[in-house]
Amino acid sequence: MDIRILGAHNGESANSSCVTFVIDGTLAVEAGGLTSRLSIEEQRQIDAVILTHHHLDHIRDIPAIALNFFRQGASIDVYSTAQVCDVIKDHLMNKAVYPEFQNIPENKPTVSFLEIEPYGLAWIDGHSILPVPVNHTGAAVGYQISDKQGKTVFYTGDTGPDLAECWRHVSPQLLIIDVSLTNSFEDFARQTGHLTANLLERELISFREIKGYLPEVLAIHMDAALEPEIREELAAVAENLHARITVAQEDMRLTI
Ligand SMILES: [Zn+2]
Ligand SMILES: [Zn+2]
Repeated sequence: MDIRILGAHNGESANSSCVTFVIDGTLAVEAGGLTSRLSIEEQRQIDAVILTHHHLDHIRDIPAIALNFFRQGASIDVYSTAQVCDVIKDHLMNKAVYPEFQNIPENKPTVSFLEIEPYGLAWIDGHSILPVPVNHTGAAVGYQISDKQGKTVFYTGDTGPDLAECWRHVSPQLLIIDVSLTNSFEDFARQTGHLTANLLERELISFREIKGYLPEVLAIHMDAALEPEIREELAAVAENLHARITVAQEDMRLTI
């Protein structure tokens, strides 16, 4: 399984994009840095996008990629929970803010919204996808994504702590997980549904207790301004747990 990180952060700047990665060149996860990081030709390779929740940093490029596809007469599938699909239709592609690409062209709409249910295993673009509820706003889910060879990644999307229930449903070789904030922001992280390095450490201990192993960890969704400190704090967690923790970066490529 080839994983290309397009955006690794919770915000955008000249050198950071909002969370997005592409699996095996055709399956996009999140749409925070989808259009700004891919050429038009690369965008056309994308068959489907899966979204974890409806915050803007995760959905912002759905209208943008829809416009590019519309002009070329192409179409794209967007998978998420009903709540997320409805937010995009009601608040972004609602004719007022942007065209309703889910309705045009009439005979072959550019965007097809396909609803998935938590714990409902789906087969999307050659990958098996298991949506698992996490601890963030509304009906946020993470996704366990497996290819035909059994290579498996679990991406939490944005999440706060207390993921024991989640761990019972997944068995990834690679865990891509939200570490947005430094340890000094732990209260704020709990309130807003995010993790710090210390909170990650507790979640990894819980994972190991429940599953009997630790996967490789890729931290993502960092606040760019806090990143140097987050990196130091994650290095301490890696040492404490003898874990392999990497910090995601724009344009990083991984193979599992
Ligand atoms: Zn986010
Ligand atoms: Zn969020």
